[in-house]
Amino acid sequence: MATNRVQFQRGLSMTEFFERYGSEDKCRQALETARWPRGFACPACGGAARSVFERAGMRYWQCSTCPHQTSLISGTIFQGTKLALRVWFQAMQLLTQSKNNVSALELRRQLGVNYHSAWLLKHKIMEAMRVAEDDRELDGRVEIDDAFLGGERSGGKPGRGSENKVPFVAAVQTTGSGKPIVACLRVQPHSIEQVSVFAAAHIATTATVVSDGLWCFRATAIVGAEHQRIVTGGGKASVEKPEFKAINTLLGNLKTAISGTYHAFDFAKYAHRYLAEFQFRFNRRFNMRTILHRLLRSMLQARPAPEHAIRAAEACG
Ligand SMILES: [Zn+2]
Repeated sequence: MATNRVQFQRGLSMTEFFERYGSEDKCRQALETARWPRGFACPACGGAARSVFERAGMRYWQCSTCPHQTSLISGTIFQGTKLALRVWFQAMQLLTQSKNNVSALELRRQLGVNYHSAWLLKHKIMEAMRVAEDDRELDGRVEIDDAFLGGERSGGKPGRGSENKVPFVAAVQTTGSGKPIVACLRVQPHSIEQVSVFAAAHIATTATVVSDGLWCFRATAIVGAEHQRIVTGGGKASVEKPEFKAINTLLGNLKTAISGTYHAFDFAKYAHRYLAEFQFRFNRRFNMRTILHRLLRSMLQARPAPEHAIRAAEACG
C-alpha cells in the first residue's frame, strides 16, 4: 500500500543530518555547492571569474567581469537573516522529516530561538515551498474537491463562527487505478469563476477530471479538460465512493497534519502557505532522503522575503 511505502522508507536520520549539516562550516559548504554546483556564477552577468574577500565576518564574492558583489545568501530567501545557518538547516530538517506539520511554537522549543525568530523562519521556509509548488500542473486522471480550512472560533462573537474559515480547492493526480501521485491545493473561493482560475492554472487540458455533483467543477470543462462528474449526494456517501478515495485520503491527511498545530488567526491569514507546506511534502513523500536537499534548492531559488512581505496577507479574490 502506498501509505506504507511512505511510512517505512528510510529518511534522513538525525545522525546523518548532523554528519552533513552539524556545523556552520558544513552548512555554508552545502549552501555554496547547492547554489553554484559548477562553481561560482555571477548572479548579474553569469561570469565565472571572481575574487573572494571578507568584510565584517561575512564572505563576499566579487565578480571579475562586472562590478557585482554577492554573499552566499543574498538574492535568496535566506537574505537578511541573523540566525546561524545551522539553525535554518535544523528547521528545514524538522519541517521535512515530520509526518505532520510543525508549529512555530514547536520550532522555538526545538531550536532554542525566540518565538518571533521561529515564526519568521517557518514562514520563510513555507514561502519557498509555495514558490516551488506555484506552477504545479496535474494531468491524466485528476480527482478534485472543495473544502474549508479552520473555522474554529477564537474569541469571536456568537454567530460569527465562520470568520476564520478559508475555502480552498484540492486536486490530486492519480494512476489509472486511483493511486495518488501528486497534489495541488489552493486557497480559492468556490465560485465557478474562481474554480476556472484554478483549473486554468493547475489542470492540463488533456486531463480527465473526476468530481462530485458540485456545479462549480463544471468549470474544468471551460479549459478543455474532460470532466467525469459523479453525483454522490455528498456526506458519508461521497467519502466511501472509490472514485474519490485519493482526494478523500488527501483531505483526511491534511486535517491530521494541521489539526491542533496552528492558531486560527494564522490559519485564516496564511492558509496559502500552510497548504503549500502540506503540498510540498506530499509531492515529495517518496523521496524522504533527498527532500531536505530539494528544499534547500527551492530556498535558493525563492526571492528574498522581508518580514513585512511575509506578514502581508495573500491577495485573494
Ligand atoms: Zn558579473
